[in-house]
Formats: sequence, C-alpha cells, structure tokens
Amino acid sequence: MDPFALHKLSYGLYLLTTSAEGTPFGCIINTAFQITSKPPQIAVSCNRENFTHDKILSSGFFGVTVLPESTDSSVIGTFGYQSGRDIDKFEYIPYSKGKETGVPLLDIVGMTTMECRVINTVEVGTHTIFIGEVLDAVITQPEAKEMTYRYYHEVLKGAAPKNAPTYIAEEPAAEPAAKGELWKCSVCGYIYDSSVGAEDVPAGTLFESLPDDWKCPVCGVGKEMFNKQE
Ligand code: FE
Repeated sequence: MDPFALHKLSYGLYLLTTSAEGTPFGCIINTAFQITSKPPQIAVSCNRENFTHDKILSSGFFGVTVLPESTDSSVIGTFGYQSGRDIDKFEYIPYSKGKETGVPLLDIVGMTTMECRVINTVEVGTHTIFIGEVLDAVITQPEAKEMTYRYYHEVLKGAAPKNAPTYIAEEPAAEPAAKGELWKCSVCGYIYDSSVGAEDVPAGTLFESLPDDWKCPVCGVGKEMFNKQE
C-alpha cells in the first residue's frame, strides 16, 4: 500500500476551539466536513493527545474557525505547534465568544466561524471524531480564500505535525529538491533552502544574511530556533 495515496484526499486548515470554565482552548486541525444539511451537522477529527480534545469532551461544545490563505504564521505556530498545557494560546490573538455557546472564535483572523453542540463522538484509535450540530455560522471575511492543506504544504512549505491524522513519520516530501545551505525550523520542520529563498527573500540569500527579525514563514518563530542541516 502506498501511504501517500491517502494524501490525494483534500483537507483544509481550521482552528478547533472550546471553552472550559471560562478558559479558551484551541488547536489546529486539517479535518472538518459537513455531514448533513437538515439539520446542519459537521464532523471534526481531533487527536486524543490534544488538550483541546479533553476540554471538548467536558464542555460538550466546539467552535470551528476556517483559516484563510492570509493567516499569519504566528497563528499556525501558536495553535498548531504548542500546547495549551504550557501556554495561554489566546493571550495575543483577538477572538470573540460565540453567542450560542461561548466558545472562542477567531472572527478577525479567520474568515468563517461555526459553533456546534456535540451530539456524538466516535473514538478511532489515536483520534476522536466529534459530530456536532451547527448552532450558528458566520462569514466574517467574504472576500478571503480558505487555506487548503495543499496550499499549506506547497506555498507555505508547512509539514504535517505528528498529531495530524494525515501524518506519515518519514515524509520525504518535506525535503526540498534543490540543495543550497539548509536550515531546519526546530518547531515546525520547515526547511530554509538558501538556493530557493522564501517569500520576500530572493534565491541565493544565505541564512546568516536574513534580517534578525526574520521569522519562520510557517510557524512564526525566530531565527534562533533554526538548526543547520549537514
Ligand atoms: Fe517553523
């Protein structure tokens, strides 16, 4: 079986949130889909190791924010590569509370928000599928384009974190074809290839020549988090 054949299925990038005893929690997922229209019901897949997972179980509600292509790398870095056990992910991110459930929603950063009540859960190995009735849904940025998982991989050069349902341990696609001087982000796995450059960085720019305030285009951490690859 070719495990990469499964990557031909399509996904997006979403922020899955909930609120427990007044505290907001959230993580990035790539799997959310509509199941029925009457009543409107959607499903999301969440790794059982994510803190947000346990908080959804206890609260019985979840929010989904659809992230646009313009999503700042710091949002993906904070919610996709860090844990709510260690930091307050919402400290520097503007959010509102859903009017039906109170779950946190990124109405400014995101382009569409939904609030759901959990009506069923299915445990499937490493992940739980939460099925929710949509209680409210709002388009907050009508002109924005939703970030697809292909865009995340091919344009932002993002890798699948180990908690993603689509994760493959040794993913050769993460290595760029061109071979300049390579520096790897220790947080998200993004590789800066000096022969390729990056957005707003011309090909041929050595890593040491990048400005001091340059940030990982995928997760938003600084240059000090990069390690040179031999
Ligand atoms: Fe990174």
